[in-house]
Amino acid sequence: AEEVGGGDKEVVKDYFNKSGFERWKKIYGETDDVNRVQRDIRLGHSKTVENVMKMLTDEGKLEGVTVCDAGCGTGCLAIPLAKEGAVVTAADISAAMVAEAEKQAREQLQLSNRGFSGGPVMPKFEVKDLESLDGKYDTVVCLDVLIHYPQSKADAMIAHLASLAENRLLISFAPKTLYYDLLKRIGELFPGPSKATRAYLHAEADVERALKKVGWRIRKRGLTTTQFYFSRLVEAVPAK
Ligand code: SAM
Repeated sequence: AEEVGGGDKEVVKDYFNKSGFERWKKIYGETDDVNRVQRDIRLGHSKTVENVMKMLTDEGKLEGVTVCDAGCGTGCLAIPLAKEGAVVTAADISAAMVAEAEKQAREQLQLSNRGFSGGPVMPKFEVKDLESLDGKYDTVVCLDVLIHYPQSKADAMIAHLASLAENRLLISFAPKTLYYDLLKRIGELFPGPSKATRAYLHAEADVERALKKVGWRIRKRGLTTTQFYFSRLVEAVPAK
């Protein structure tokens, strides 16, 4: 049976403020104290970030473009976006994540402050769940967050993100078919994230249908796979 109400969300928030924060800060960081699996996930995730940056910059310069990074984690995407001159709003349900992202942005963006014409702009960081995000952005990006949403909540989440975006919405998620057995295996081998919080996989067709329902179509697709990390990336645009 699917969980109702805010159950999942509270568990996720708690996890990413405590043990999940420590675990993911390490995975998304650069230190050597990661095991083989964590190193593999780090590699896969960094490829997803690279793919996103490529998809976004292929369409033109990001200087002055407003981007909302929904569920920003430690700022792996918000920071490179700011480096390209994007005007970034980055939000996460976890206060610990947001504080870490802000700290890293301060450290990393200071360096590139010199010599960049017109940028970078320090991202605006906010502690809020993505349902509470409002405003309008040229581009909305939501990486590896849908895994925390059961299918029954995914459509509303996607619709909300689309309502914030004027031109582009990029979402990545663990695809249902390929990932399923693998995830089970990881869960058995490493009683870490998938047991602390439930992990939900999503069929690409379901994501596409949710986008279609609110008048968006998929323009580009990408897929990142390493041994322990699978992530489908889609870029959606208004259908008309
Ligand atoms: N997007 C980041 C990245 O790719 O580097 C972080 C991905 S991490 C696997 C998932 C993040 O989503 C966590 O930082 C978590 O706190 C956040 N999150 C989960 N549910 C959320 C929600 N309902 N609203 C906002 N953030 C959420």
